[in-house]
Amino acid sequence: MEGQAAPLFYSFPLAKLQEIVVEQGEKPYRARQLFEWVYKKRVFDPDLMTDVSKSYRERLKGAFSFDLPEVETREESADGTVKFLLRMKDGALVEAVLMRYDYGNVACVSSEVGCSMGCAFCASGLIKKTRNLSAGEMVGECLLIDQYLRPNLERLSHVVVMGTGEPFDNYDNVMDFIRIINDDHAMEIGARHITVSTCGILDKIRRYGKEGLQINLAVSLHASNEETRRLLMPIARGYKMEELIAACRDYVEESGRRITFEYILIDGLNDSDENAYELAKLLKGILCYVNLIPLNPVKEKPFKRSKRAYRFRDILNARGIKCTVRKEFGTDIDAACGQLRAKYQAKEAK
Ligand code: SF4
Repeated sequence: MEGQAAPLFYSFPLAKLQEIVVEQGEKPYRARQLFEWVYKKRVFDPDLMTDVSKSYRERLKGAFSFDLPEVETREESADGTVKFLLRMKDGALVEAVLMRYDYGNVACVSSEVGCSMGCAFCASGLIKKTRNLSAGEMVGECLLIDQYLRPNLERLSHVVVMGTGEPFDNYDNVMDFIRIINDDHAMEIGARHITVSTCGILDKIRRYGKEGLQINLAVSLHASNEETRRLLMPIARGYKMEELIAACRDYVEESGRRITFEYILIDGLNDSDENAYELAKLLKGILCYVNLIPLNPVKEKPFKRSKRAYRFRDILNARGIKCTVRKEFGTDIDAACGQLRAKYQAKEAK
């Protein structure tokens, strides 16, 4: 639900839009023409789409909303990271983040308003899920970040669906979103530059592997054994670790793609040498890569950042598991996902 009468234009992949324009009595090529105006020329007002007949422009205004989210607030870090707090049409607040790597500009996109997965270390999960984001709202997050980059002749090159929400809990919208941003007639984000991160919903991991796209999958593991994973991630109470690893193996086999495991290092909880040995054993033989993430402490949570990241990495590397420590971003702004929104909402409530 988008909280508005007309659906968002940005929610429709090209093939679906073609069906709609044909139902409206237009030729299928119209859909590509509209994509061109919106995604290439960045014209969001039908009145300015000059090669579209005046009568169809009028109908377009009734058929679709071309609204983008509003930027409620923006925080810019000295390292170039920019956090956007976006307000959707129904008032919902959502975070999106621009991160700058050597290889390109990466948008970290939210997929839900709030999150009900309850991961113990996460600021986003402090605010429960109220609804899914539509594909168009997620495209809106990317369009706004790309618009921010354009005056400096830069562009958005990579997208990770790792912000607030569990993307596989909103699977169909997320897949439509990916089809749109990946389309050469739209934002042209290469499939290999798109990553979806799940906390481990097994049937969707397998389904994602069968999509036949070259997109990447990251699985939030955060533990080397069942007990610790259950402590950190309520989803682990529903799915055993061995079942999760089996689904990941199936994904790699089906898609032929390497899988990334995300592992937040928490002091004294999952960062010992024994944990590293255990993790290496668990992942043995899987075409994978481990991303070690220094914890961004959240004041409402008891966890501390580990100082053992490089030692942990070295043990995994020595055992043949490819592994790096993730570069940190925006440490001078509210770095943990969900913090900006939580802070803003608390301020609003005062
Ligand atoms: S880590 Fe992701 S899945 Fe877990 S509570 Fe936070 S936003 Fe939700």
